[in-house]
Amino acid sequence: MVKITLPDGSVREYPVGTTAMNVAESISQGLARQVLAAKINGELKEAATPLNHDAAVQLLTWQDADGKSAFWHSSAHVLAEAVQALYPHALFTIGPAVEQGFYYDIDFGDSAPGADDLTRIEEKMMEFARQANTFSLYPISKADALDYYRKRNNPYKVELIENLADGEITFCDQGSFTDLCRGGHIPDTGYIKAVKLLNLAGAYWRGNEKNKQLVRIYGVSFPKQSMLKEHLDLLEEAKKRDHRKLGQELGLFAFSQRVGKGLPLWLPKGAALRERLEQFMRTAQRKAGYQPVITPHIGSKALYETSGHWDKYGADSFQPIETPEEGELFMLKPMNCPHHCEIYNAEPRSYRDLPLRLAEFGTVYRYEQSGELHGLTRVRGFTQDDAHIFCRPDQVKDEFVKVIDLVLYVFKSLDFTDFRAQVSLRSKDDRSKYIGSDENWEKAESAIVEAAAERGLKTAVEYGEAAFYGPKLDFMVKDALGRSWQLGTIQVDYNLPERFELEYTGQDNQKHRPVMIHRAPFGSLERFVAVLTEHCGGNFPLWLSPEQVVVLPISDKFLDYAEKVADLLNNSDIRTLVDRRTESIGRKIRDNEMRKLPFMLIVGEKEEAEESISVREHGKGDLGSMSILEFKNRIHDDINRQLNH
Ligand SMILES: [Zn+2]
Ligand SMILES: [Zn+2]
Repeated sequence: MVKITLPDGSVREYPVGTTAMNVAESISQGLARQVLAAKINGELKEAATPLNHDAAVQLLTWQDADGKSAFWHSSAHVLAEAVQALYPHALFTIGPAVEQGFYYDIDFGDSAPGADDLTRIEEKMMEFARQANTFSLYPISKADALDYYRKRNNPYKVELIENLADGEITFCDQGSFTDLCRGGHIPDTGYIKAVKLLNLAGAYWRGNEKNKQLVRIYGVSFPKQSMLKEHLDLLEEAKKRDHRKLGQELGLFAFSQRVGKGLPLWLPKGAALRERLEQFMRTAQRKAGYQPVITPHIGSKALYETSGHWDKYGADSFQPIETPEEGELFMLKPMNCPHHCEIYNAEPRSYRDLPLRLAEFGTVYRYEQSGELHGLTRVRGFTQDDAHIFCRPDQVKDEFVKVIDLVLYVFKSLDFTDFRAQVSLRSKDDRSKYIGSDENWEKAESAIVEAAAERGLKTAVEYGEAAFYGPKLDFMVKDALGRSWQLGTIQVDYNLPERFELEYTGQDNQKHRPVMIHRAPFGSLERFVAVLTEHCGGNFPLWLSPEQVVVLPISDKFLDYAEKVADLLNNSDIRTLVDRRTESIGRKIRDNEMRKLPFMLIVGEKEEAEESISVREHGKGDLGSMSILEFKNRIHDDINRQLNH
């Protein structure tokens, strides 16, 4: 018999050679029908894998990210099978599952398909899917594997196999297709009920521009036709909300090839929005005991040698800046932490000075390959709402609780209601790669777990996911379209205090090393504005809107009254403008709807006589007429509610 441990900790006994699918069947037939694959001792495997030893087994369904991954990985095989049938000379390279589907990079030689050919490939895929072919995985010697692909003149797979050790190579057959593969498939292709090939793109072999360009076919597949429809609807909505599109329409930011790739220019409205976010964070941080600091955009190369960044990232970063002084070299700042460590070192510190919380909206520069750049989410220069907390080991938990509170305040004020926390700790078995004392790690790890529990966060604990220099807590936030974003990382660091020899004098009069915590609730303002724009579809919360109110006079005759209303509101800190154009009122309403301003005030003869306004709220319609004072109070109430004052 073998002992099978399930994720809830329960242990069941089965005959040797039982499969994960048998385990599922022993629980319920309903569950077995849902099972796509299994994790066996943490490795993604086929549900039909025989279990010959005691093992930890997790059954994977569509509800699990790994279940979807097995589904999409298997779909990539079917895509390749379809391409092989239609383009016999195509050479296959790699075809992994990705977050929302799968792709395959293929060398088509001279006969690459166009977008029009995707439907034909989809149809072929569905033909193979309906055959319900099983995926059979088998070991093959390195020599035979090389021989197989050399015969097919496929240099890509040959290169991949050359980098593998003999004895660890497996092939997978399904239907008429054979692939080099490590495994982790669904039971058979019949599980695939709907497929959509989304687009074609160029991709360099191994991501290197010097290599041959291949064709990447992106696709997505589902176990139900209705799921595909929902997914395509979501993609359509995502397109409408794409921050690159909205950013242009709303006049938030722009790029200039002359300024340089990946370097965003904030336009006046975008800058107003960003300034509001900064102000919001500054106020919250002041209340939480942070002290603002300012550091330069460059730092000497030696600074980054001390921090270790030069060794680790130097070759792939912007290269050092020379000065007329021989041997003097500066780096564009990739992170603010080293500068902040030197601020810590600027004065002797005692245990009474801690925690020291240094905050800076620090602009940093990181080189990204031009193919990786994407709107505001992947840029080469960005500003972090950065802060570093230097504290004693016994203060880590309190500081974590405070940072969690700050992050939750941000989420609430910006209407992110669906999130969970992920705590990354050391691996349970191998602890050799982590720096810092065991005692401090244990203290910090339990501090994070306790802090998260104290604040009632939905938390997943991941072992082995901690950085070598400390454990961390990330927030995974779901936006309005159900997409996950990682925001608000809180990272403990034992490395930089060591490298910068940070010290404080303890109560015992001895020197001690402080713990450093990195945290940035927004992450970067660029990426955050991108996520926020897509989350709210450009309808920013009232407090944040660069322009909150527009006054529309029914005709030029009421322009003076419109100006008077706008002045009164602007004087009360409500950002108001007047639509002075000589257009019909209907046209003015339509145009201003497009600009997504939260409120439109319509004024004509009746309003002027009564000193009132007619109010329309974006997305809600007509609110009727009210006095200016009533409107002012309403706006201030709305803002206070959003900011939880
Ligand atoms: Zn595979
Ligand atoms: Zn940092």
